[in-house]
Amino acid sequence: MLASLFEHPAFSLPTYAVIDKPFGAFIQCSRIFIMMPAMTLQDLAKSLHNCQRCKLAKMGRTQVVFGVGNPHASVMFVGEAPGFHEDQQGEPFVGAAGKLLNDLLQSAGLSRSDIYIANVIKCRPPNNRDPEPDEVETCKPFLMQQIAMIHPTLVCTLGNWATQTLLERKVGITKVRGQAFYLKDFVLFPLLHPAAALHQGSMLEPLREDFKKLREFLDRNTKPS
Ligand code: URA
Repeated sequence: MLASLFEHPAFSLPTYAVIDKPFGAFIQCSRIFIMMPAMTLQDLAKSLHNCQRCKLAKMGRTQVVFGVGNPHASVMFVGEAPGFHEDQQGEPFVGAAGKLLNDLLQSAGLSRSDIYIANVIKCRPPNNRDPEPDEVETCKPFLMQQIAMIHPTLVCTLGNWATQTLLERKVGITKVRGQAFYLKDFVLFPLLHPAAALHQGSMLEPLREDFKKLREFLDRNTKPS
């Protein structure tokens, strides 16, 4: 019986074929499948601890800012890049934009312990300049791995960078904010970036409106428990 099972076409993969990364891999050694333990979010964070993959590693960053929050969150937020305080403390959104974000989350009935927060790029660009395309390209796979591991239903992107990176389209945030985009693995919900409202006071009201729309979206789509 066992012998005939091994004759099945599924078992005719090349020796040492690896199937299905990064969630734990089936590794076939000869004709025996071994289930490798799944890579966790913590493993991924550790693997990036001293990342040297892009030039930001040598441009004055203090540390890699991986992400923080509930690893089983159904709602995830994605910002652009760590700023000064995030770089110092190793956590996304702990500076002034983070304080405003906490307030906005509360207005939408969410708290930081419900959600997970990460950035598109994990190292602070010098003088908070915009991320450069090669930096986004290098770091994006790790954001995608974080999303795959957390497996949120809803990903809220904050501002242009996160929105364009995940939508894979060069679209302005003012055109798409407050709308749901049904992607293959999650719903994307772009919002204005809290830092935009700190720079330009007139953006505060539109930003509050975005979080109101987010609350309405969650109300429409959350089953009562
Ligand atoms: N702005 C971001 O996009 N991310 C942070 O972590 C802080 C400010």
